[in-house]
Amino acid sequence: ATALALTGCSGDRGGDTGGDAGETTGFEPGSTIGVALPDKTSENWVLAGQLFTDGLEEAGYKADVQYAPASNTVAEQQNQIQSMVTNGAKVIIIGAKDGKQLATQVEAAHDAGATVIAYDRLIENTEAVDYYVAFDNFKVGQLQGQALLDGLEERADHDAPYNIELFSGSPDDANSAVFFDGAMDVLQPKIDDGTLNVVSGQTEIAQTATEGWLAENAQNRMETLLTGSYGGDVAIDGVLSPNDTLARAILTAAQQAGKGVPVVTGQDSEVESVKSIMEGIQYSTINKDTALLVEQSIKMVDQLQKGEEAEVNDTEQYDNGVKVVPAYLLEPLIVTKDNAAEAYSNVPSLLEIVESYN
Ligand code: BGC
Repeated sequence: ATALALTGCSGDRGGDTGGDAGETTGFEPGSTIGVALPDKTSENWVLAGQLFTDGLEEAGYKADVQYAPASNTVAEQQNQIQSMVTNGAKVIIIGAKDGKQLATQVEAAHDAGATVIAYDRLIENTEAVDYYVAFDNFKVGQLQGQALLDGLEERADHDAPYNIELFSGSPDDANSAVFFDGAMDVLQPKIDDGTLNVVSGQTEIAQTATEGWLAENAQNRMETLLTGSYGGDVAIDGVLSPNDTLARAILTAAQQAGKGVPVVTGQDSEVESVKSIMEGIQYSTINKDTALLVEQSIKMVDQLQKGEEAEVNDTEQYDNGVKVVPAYLLEPLIVTKDNAAEAYSNVPSLLEIVESYN
């Protein structure tokens, strides 16, 4: 009976599996693919641009890769996407500067018959996002929260309670809340039971935000926290940092204030942070291999080109306010000094750094 029941399912599924899941008619192999990236504040974005340009051209497409400039960023990214639409891009891959401000542009893309893929950051409040491709951001947050706890137990010279502070990313990036919620999923119970003490009392995401993901903003807030809440010999044991750029800024502020080296988390496996981890300073980072994410995105483009739907592995987690966006999620990996060699076994440039410390 099972075999019979399955027989009917093996055919073409390009037809009517959800009217909003993109075009299923395919397009010319050499078509233009647009890639709009938000900024260069983290190494991962810089790398992504290069990998998209090379990978798309290798796969036979014309790549139109653009970064939003540092000033007037949102408006410029809107213009860039609009021009990709005008130039006939068949797929537009977007790392949003502000995921709440692209509805008009992605709707125009849709009207022109293009498929829209949100890359790394979700695009919110519009039906016109066909797919999402990202590392599992909630998982990233959970790993960061757990790393903070592990690091405190490993490094602190005293038992709990531990004094900590919390940082989150830029409020215009949909990921920021997801990272923070994931981390708080692990940390909140430990705050509630008294293991962790957020000395400043700042536990609301709005209080912890880092506008623009800018290092200087994190450094300034850290200095203010240290002055305001860590006078005298009050120790700071740990800091939840959502990424590496901010982690290094937070560590700089702590060291300059004579507060030693708190346990600080991170994300992105930036070169300077990997070095810092190997030197025993920054505690952890996350490996979200950009090469894999770009590769997955190009795979989706290939499927769409052939007239197939892009493969997804999650249809529940990423609600953008008006729809759950079908997603392909990759697994993030926590990295500390202990597992760095293993974690970067497939990332030669980082592996080389790790091995140079052995
Ligand atoms: C990305 C992080 C990155 C941050 C700042 C987020 O959307 O997921 O990897 O650190 O933006 O660029």
